[in-house]
Amino acid sequence: MSAPDDLRSELAELARQARAWVEWVADSGVDELPRATEAPSAARQPVVEQPPVTAPSEDASPATQPPVAVAPRPPKQARAVTPKPAAPRRAAPSIDVPDTPAARAARLAELADEVSGCTKCGLHETRQNTVFGRGSPAAKLVFVSEGPGANEDAQGVPFVGKAGQLLDRMIAAMGYQRDEVYICNVVKCRPPRNRKPEPDEMAACLPYLHEQLALLEPQVIVCLGATGVEGLLGSSMGITRMRGTWKLYRGRIPLMPTFHPAYLLRQPEKKREVWDDLQQVMKRLGMDPKAKSQRSGEDGD
Ligand code: SF4
Repeated sequence: MSAPDDLRSELAELARQARAWVEWVADSGVDELPRATEAPSAARQPVVEQPPVTAPSEDASPATQPPVAVAPRPPKQARAVTPKPAAPRRAAPSIDVPDTPAARAARLAELADEVSGCTKCGLHETRQNTVFGRGSPAAKLVFVSEGPGANEDAQGVPFVGKAGQLLDRMIAAMGYQRDEVYICNVVKCRPPRNRKPEPDEMAACLPYLHEQLALLEPQVIVCLGATGVEGLLGSSMGITRMRGTWKLYRGRIPLMPTFHPAYLLRQPEKKREVWDDLQQVMKRLGMDPKAKSQRSGEDGD
């Protein structure tokens, strides 16, 4: 290749990368580009985040801070430039993923069978059925929620109650058939009285979810409620703050947090925000959200 051709190729690649970045920022809801001279603000935090890690806050509570006159705190700017040691990241389990779709689907079925006999945490004592997941092993879109409820425990299938019916309508409004997507939970057994799973229960069950996701290799993950994000990314931030902003699972799969359908049954006015989040997901999947907006409005969801 001649020198001018090399230059043209390089410029084309730079342009492609710049376009991809701008599209990514636009998809994430940032309406203007960050300026290097501006101080960072909460609204301009990086939109594409690595999985956050849990670490104690550095700021002492007001009750524990020394009196200002005795020990003034160092200027904030000095603290901002002090390099911090890297916080420990949770170890990524090594997962053997078969090469072919058929072999991955077979391993998924095998894993469901393993889960059905699991006694790794106390939740097995009160379950009627394990709830592994439902949907296509070839799904591009995976929904991750917290855990089974009473109906799911009775039937062994995720999202079969009223919240499940609402989720099905949301999926249909996106233009998908119910079984074109995949739906699963952080824990596969119902926590008693539908309480949130305890950290040790989540830790025991998460390897199943990580393997499910490795086998499915979706293009996008949607977390329904905060527990899914906590399980996958280790973030304990509230769902109200997180929803609508893209995260990354394992540094490569876009993850969109949004409200849980059960919450929407109690707070139907929040459906608009969920639909905004799902429109971002549709764009990420190469679908046309505008074409579906009318349909969503007609469905009232
Ligand atoms: S919740 Fe998960 S780890 Fe606990 S018993 Fe059920 S399948 Fe096993």
